[in-house]
Amino acid sequence: METIASVEKLQSRIEHFRTQMLTVGFVPTMGALHNGHKSLLQIARNQCDVVVLSIFVNPTQFNDPQDFKSYPLTMDEDLSMASAEGVDLVFIPNVQEMYGGNLSVDPVDYGSITKEYEGLTRKGHFDGVVAIVRKLFQAVNSDASFFGEKDLQQLAVIRRLASEEFPNMKIVGCPLVRDADGLAMSSRNIRLDANGRNRALNLSRWLGVLRIAAVEGSDIDAALEGIRMEAAAIENIDLEYVDVVDSTTFATRRGEWKTKGSHAIVAANVDGVRLIDNCAIH
Ligand code: AMP
Repeated sequence: METIASVEKLQSRIEHFRTQMLTVGFVPTMGALHNGHKSLLQIARNQCDVVVLSIFVNPTQFNDPQDFKSYPLTMDEDLSMASAEGVDLVFIPNVQEMYGGNLSVDPVDYGSITKEYEGLTRKGHFDGVVAIVRKLFQAVNSDASFFGEKDLQQLAVIRRLASEEFPNMKIVGCPLVRDADGLAMSSRNIRLDANGRNRALNLSRWLGVLRIAAVEGSDIDAALEGIRMEAAAIENIDLEYVDVVDSTTFATRRGEWKTKGSHAIVAANVDGVRLIDNCAIH
């Protein structure tokens, strides 16, 4: 496994693979790798000859400077996992390499995909995501890139970016991986103590409530309202949104959720740690 910090060197290594007619799969991450990331690496490993992992905590996608500052870094463990999963290249650039001293990014407007939910509650977040993923896609120029359904709205944003600017690249959505207790795996989970973790389990439980309501054909709006009321009564949980949406457009599907692609989505701050989760309900 080779570790590379410069775009130029990365591109020359990828060129070399191309001359050997090898297919390249790319898994972009911000590090602090867990089993969710591991599953992406395994899917990429199964589908492509060469696997490139990037680890870069992208400053422009953090709307909260405190969240950026406290983002976990576990580089040694990350490299061990990458090596164990058969990663060929790890790209670990610094901020200067990716942004050249200019951290301003262009606004992105993909309609409700960038405006609603994460776009609304984390202003500028998707501008930063698109800016860095565009730079990474240009640098790696992979045949396929792998993203988790954990960040469902991000996946919709990336699919749109790729369809407009990287039409030859396949975007592969990979299933959300949970811990045994149901909590969606996230690099931020290590900032939760035992009580916080217990509180955080409400997110996946609420998604379960919506799923059951959907299966039973009961009133989704009433279920959403019940969840909002319940959340308001729990100390240290600040519910940002809970809703049912079309997973491609991120338009709300309240009232018309009985269509393929309907997902329940939720975001909340638990003990000051921002968590998101989702599940298909149809
Ligand atoms: P991050 O390092 O949080 O930016 O995530 C890097 C990639 O891993 C993104 O495509 C995420 O959607 C994906 N990912 C993060 N957590 C999970 C999870 N629990 N299950 C599946 N994919 C995940």
